[in-house]
Amino acid sequence: MSYDVLVIGAGPAGTAAAAECARLGLSTMCIEEHGTIGYPVQCAGLLSNAAFLESGVSAGPVLARVSGARLVSGFGSEVLIDAKTTKAVVVDRGSFDREMANNAADSGAEFLLKTAAYGIRGNTLLVRGVNGHQEIPFRLLIAADGPRSTIARIHKMPRARSYLAGIQIELPYECDPRFVEIYPDASPDFFGWMIPAGEGRVRVGLCGHSQVPERFASLIKKFSENSMHFVTGTLPLGLMQKTYGNRTLFVGDAAGFAKPTSGGGVYTGIRSACHAASTASFCCDNDLFTDVALAEYERKWRADIGRELDLGFRIFQLRQKISAYDMNELIKALDNPEIIRTIIKYGNMDRPGILIKKLLCKPAFLRCAAPLIRSGILSLFQ
Ligand SMILES: Cc1cc2nc3c(=O)[nH]c(=O)nc-3n(C[C@H](O)[C@H](O)[C@H](O)COP(=O)(O)OP(=O)(O)OC[C@H]3O[C@@H](n4cnc5c(N)ncnc54)[C@H](O)[C@@H]3O)c2cc1C
Repeated sequence: MSYDVLVIGAGPAGTAAAAECARLGLSTMCIEEHGTIGYPVQCAGLLSNAAFLESGVSAGPVLARVSGARLVSGFGSEVLIDAKTTKAVVVDRGSFDREMANNAADSGAEFLLKTAAYGIRGNTLLVRGVNGHQEIPFRLLIAADGPRSTIARIHKMPRARSYLAGIQIELPYECDPRFVEIYPDASPDFFGWMIPAGEGRVRVGLCGHSQVPERFASLIKKFSENSMHFVTGTLPLGLMQKTYGNRTLFVGDAAGFAKPTSGGGVYTGIRSACHAASTASFCCDNDLFTDVALAEYERKWRADIGRELDLGFRIFQLRQKISAYDMNELIKALDNPEIIRTIIKYGNMDRPGILIKKLLCKPAFLRCAAPLIRSGILSLFQ
C-alpha cells in the first residue's frame, strides 16, 4: 500500500503534521527511530501560551506556570519583568510529546516506532528497525527528523545557517516558580537560563557556539550539581534556503525553524507542520508533486512567521556584537517603569518584532540603549 504522506520523526513538528494530514483525510504514517516517543528530551520545556495552545495538549504535562522573567547580568544588575498573569508554561517534554502523538493517532495517523529512515529510492522510503528492512511507498514525505535530518542529507539540501550546542540539567533548587531567570553573560553568543520545573526543581542550562561545557560548569557553580536529568542537544538556527523539493516538505528543526532569539522551536515547528499538512492535502488531492506545487508550503509559512524568523536571525547576529559591559548597561536601561510597562504590553515570546519597534519609539529606551544602537539594531527597521 502507498501512503499519501510519510512523516519522518515523531517530535512535536512530526506529530502535528501527522495529526493534521490524517484530519484532512490523507493516509498517513509517522516513523520514529526511538521505541518511546519523547525521549531523549532535548529541551527546557518552556512554551508560550500560544505554543501550548497550538499543541492541543492537556494540562497534564504542565509543571509550572510562568508570569515573567528576571534578566541578570554578570556584573550584578538585574531587571524583573512581571506580567502578573501566565505568559508561558513549563512542561515535561516527554509526556508532552507523547500526548501529541496520541492525539495524532486518535486522528487516524499510523505510527511505526523503533524504525529509522535511511534512504529513498524513487517514491519509496527505505527504513530499518523492529521489522527489519522495509520499503514503504509514499506520495509525499514530510521530513520532521530534527536538527540532523537524514532526509535533508539524502537530498543534499543546504542546511540551517548556524548550529548551537546546548547543555542543561534538572536539579533540586528553591526559586520563585513564577519567574524564569536569563543570564546573557553565561553564554556570550546566546544566553543561559534557570527555569522552574515544579515543586523545588529547576532546569539550568545554556546554548552557545563554543566552550559550552566550560561555560556550563561555570554557570552551575551557584547551584547544586546533584542532577536528576542531564540534557544535551543541538539547536539549528536560520532556515535552510529552500524548505521543499523532491516530493518532500521540511518542517521543524529539520528546516531550522527554531526562533533565533530564544531557541524555542516548538511553536514554529507546529506552525510549519500545519502549513505542510495543508500543502500536502492540496498536492495529494490534485496529484501534483512538482516543486512549483510544493512551493506553496514556503509561501504559507513565510506569510505566517517568515518576517519574525528573519528579524530574529538578524537580532541573533547583532547579539554576537554586544559585550558583557554593554549588556549590563542595557539591563540597567530596561529597569525603567515605562519600559517595563511597554515590555509587558507588547512582549510576545513567539513574535518579538512588535515589541522591538515599540521600544525603539521610546525616548527613555533610546537614551539608555546606546549599546544596542552601537550593535546596529536600528538597521533592522530601515
Ligand atoms: C538545550 C535545548 C533547550 C531547548 N529548550 C526549548 C524550550 O524551552 N522551548 C522550545 O520551544 N524549544 C526548545 N528547544 C528547541 C526544541 O527542543 C526543538 O526546536 C523541537 O524539539 C523541534 O521539534 P521537531 O519535531 O522539529 O524535532 P525533534 O523534537 O528533534 O524531533 C525529531 C524526531 O525525529 C526522530 N528522527 C530523527 N532521525 C530519524 C530517522 N532517520 N528516522 C526516524 N526518526 C528519526 C528523532 O528521534 C526525534 O524524535 C530547546 C533545544 C535545546 C537543544
